[in-house]
Amino acid sequence: MAADHEGGCLCGAVRYRIQGEPLGVGLCHCRSCRLATGGPVAGFVDLPPGGFVWTAGEPAFYASSPGVRRGFCSTCGTALTFEADDLPGEVHLLSATLDDPAPWVPDEAGTTYTEERICWLKLKLPDQRETA
Ligand SMILES: [Zn+2]
Ligand SMILES: [Zn+2]
Repeated sequence: MAADHEGGCLCGAVRYRIQGEPLGVGLCHCRSCRLATGGPVAGFVDLPPGGFVWTAGEPAFYASSPGVRRGFCSTCGTALTFEADDLPGEVHLLSATLDDPAPWVPDEAGTTYTEERICWLKLKLPDQRETA
């Protein structure tokens, strides 16, 4: 499997593989994602049921909201996944944890919670339109 379909955490204990076509690729500007990741914005690859598999280690999970669970490495703390009861079977992968995130280009259709975007954060996606 190509490196752009595999990824994992900072310490290397928890690894995963993408094995399906994504439903979407985007960014999330919500405060929960900022706190979960420690970054100003979170990138996601949204995978359908069966499109994602853990391949090494045991992720830990945190319920950041009712019906939501976020997977992370309990050793190094890297945020890895987002799942929600109202999206059964889907795994939304934190795309920056891919070994090669470059091919997974976010688009506006996949971008959420722009109203919570940090005001100084200006991004230009490859289509040259600024996210707002
Ligand atoms: Zn780790
Ligand atoms: Zn979010």
